[in-house]
Amino acid sequence: MSRRVVIAIDGPSGAGKSTIAKAVASRLGYIYIDTGAMYRAVGLWAMRAGIALDDMHKLEELARHSEIEFAAGAATVLLNGEDVTGAIRDRAVSDAASKVSAIPGVRRAMVDAQRRMAEGASVVMEGRDIGTVVFPDADVKIFLDAEADARATRRLEELRQKGQDLAAEAITREMAERDRRDSTRADSPLVQAPDAVYLDSTGLSIEEVQEAVLRIVRSRVSNGKEVVR
Ligand code: C5P
Repeated sequence: MSRRVVIAIDGPSGAGKSTIAKAVASRLGYIYIDTGAMYRAVGLWAMRAGIALDDMHKLEELARHSEIEFAAGAATVLLNGEDVTGAIRDRAVSDAASKVSAIPGVRRAMVDAQRRMAEGASVVMEGRDIGTVVFPDADVKIFLDAEADARATRRLEELRQKGQDLAAEAITREMAERDRRDSTRADSPLVQAPDAVYLDSTGLSIEEVQEAVLRIVRSRVSNGKEVVR
């Protein structure tokens, strides 16, 4: 039997992590895990339950009790059995996710759940702390970045496709604030792991980034041999 492989993709919002991680997982036949969706699910539940987003004790409790599952290859996100795939993409939830994710107890609960999900399976896991905290021994670590303007344009396009036409300045501001919070929090801030490969996706097509990632995977996992199915 082939050994388990962990591919960690970290980076700021809008760098293309989800698109690339999903594509690479499908190409390799690995499980795709979107850890941002998990923090979003906790943020959504906290908002609905009316819990203050800085109530460390209650939020840790809530995170420990949240049952988050992915179905249909991560196309569907379930929170306590409810399909919240659409609800967690709301802008208010992005903000709530970034706030609750700064709480150490919430992170501990999510990291435990993420490690359990990857038990015995080869995975492509994307987030902010995968290569630094969740899997510091990951076989492949990639820090996917892009210039701020390119990231904001992608996010705007994504929201437009969902029927939300928003002012570019508002989105740029919100993203900058979220990235600042994610990069400066005390617990597991967004930083590049020292052994991660830095990849700038500005100006590259999805296919180009995907190929670049697969090249890195081949060189790290199979000593240059073909691993792609
Ligand atoms: O990746 P996405 O934008 O969906 O993540 C939403 C938020 O969840 C991020 O802004 C960040 O605050 C948090 N997050 C995190 N650690 C991860 C993944 C996401 O703190 N591994």
